[in-house]
Amino acid sequence: MLRNWITIWSVILFLVMHMGGCTSVGTKTEKAARERLFLKDLCGKNNITWEWDSVSQVVTLSLKGVRAKALVGSDVVLIGEEKVLLSAPLKTVKSSIVVSGDFQEKVIDKILNQSLEKADYFVKRVETILIDAGHGGKDPGTIGVRGGRQEKEVVLDIAKRLRNVLEAHGFKVNMTRDKDEFISLKERTEIACRSKVDLFISVHANSNPVRSVNGLEVYSLKDLNYVEKEDAERRENHQILFQKMAMKRNARDVEGILEDMLYTNKQSESRILAEYVAKETTKMIGSRNRGIKESHFFVLRNTLIPAVLVEVGFMSNPREERLLRKSLYRQKIANGLARSIMAYANRKN
Ligand SMILES: [Zn+2]
Repeated sequence: MLRNWITIWSVILFLVMHMGGCTSVGTKTEKAARERLFLKDLCGKNNITWEWDSVSQVVTLSLKGVRAKALVGSDVVLIGEEKVLLSAPLKTVKSSIVVSGDFQEKVIDKILNQSLEKADYFVKRVETILIDAGHGGKDPGTIGVRGGRQEKEVVLDIAKRLRNVLEAHGFKVNMTRDKDEFISLKERTEIACRSKVDLFISVHANSNPVRSVNGLEVYSLKDLNYVEKEDAERRENHQILFQKMAMKRNARDVEGILEDMLYTNKQSESRILAEYVAKETTKMIGSRNRGIKESHFFVLRNTLIPAVLVEVGFMSNPREERLLRKSLYRQKIANGLARSIMAYANRKN
């Protein structure tokens, strides 16, 4: 009898607790969904900078390098790469943005926490680097103006030197090739995806019909709407890595816009990396900085990691070709590239 009572009471207690749990969770979510807070008040209280692009309806919140993006009309917020789901979409009321009650806990608190961890995060964020020596095997790349030296040999040597310097500084390094072999674009992409790298750098040497043209060029990823310009020479030289692509924004749905926002973050990372590579490497080798160019970059587009392609010098320029034949100069290039990567990895914002 007593045992029966205990059983019955257990069942009742369980039901009460269970229902109570459901009710309280339901109420909390519903309350959060009903509650309306002004974004500008929340941000102001927490010293978070915010911007609202009234054309794209994208709202950007930032604090010490931590960025969150939201979209008016959507309940999804991207904090870095993490997707957070709010109990209700962002809305505008009399040209002010209002957010649901759980915005503080789900977004603001996360931004505050991440900004505190930021210093560590930046030091640790680049652990593994994938170095891609351009061309190889049946594809020699460009040929030196005088000595007949091939691009594939020069860039492989620089890539190996770069690997040694980076490994000496504690980075893990993978290479798409470490000998004279042909690797297709598809294979390079697969290597980039498979090896879970944090950063991708492709090493090439340049060529121009005008022999006086010289200096170092860095490529980073171009905007989605970009259609790569017709450039027969470049196409010929770099068909391994570049692919002519006409990407249009067809689906303007929320998912598409969120994808774009994530993509834009990566794109700006590549741009920052490219700036470090151009600045630090030209300083190290005393060569002309021809600046950052932008292009579609097949590997980069598919892996969404910060990625650059560097043209270390012109093999069509007699002076640079002579320099590229010297091992000391190639070592300097490798040192400059390594220094750029470390400066990028250790930057504070
Ligand atoms: Zn090349």
